[in-house]
Amino acid sequence: MEKVTMYRCEYCGNLFDTAELSAKHEQRHRNIDGANEMLREGATLEQINQRYKIWSNVPDHLKEATKDNCFRISYWQCCDKPAYTMREIKMDGRIRLFGCGSWNGYYGSDVRIDSTDLKDIHQPDELFIDPRYESRW
Ligand SMILES: [Zn+2]
Repeated sequence: MEKVTMYRCEYCGNLFDTAELSAKHEQRHRNIDGANEMLREGATLEQINQRYKIWSNVPDHLKEATKDNCFRISYWQCCDKPAYTMREIKMDGRIRLFGCGSWNGYYGSDVRIDSTDLKDIHQPDELFIDPRYESRW
């Protein structure tokens, strides 16, 4: 038998073969945490990326996007209105979108920054919340 040494991420507990890999992964956690803090404070994706280098680049149509912009993603909940906003940046760089496009309530999913789902961006005051959902309460 052979004794092995592993390195455990202090944030999520994942194990790594080398200290270098583990350190790199932990730095990613810190960058993602910082990126999410900036997102919550209203920074644009371009500002976030310049500071934390989450993505190789931010597509032009998303450079000025903030948590307050909304996106129309027709095939989600069959909703043809901009109902989804960016809530969180995940470890793998995908963005969690969330919103209420239909009567069955809130829905969310993670999308890549270069996804066509993020092509149809709208101003904050256009945010749609399905009124049928609200009126059920
Ligand atoms: Zn981790």
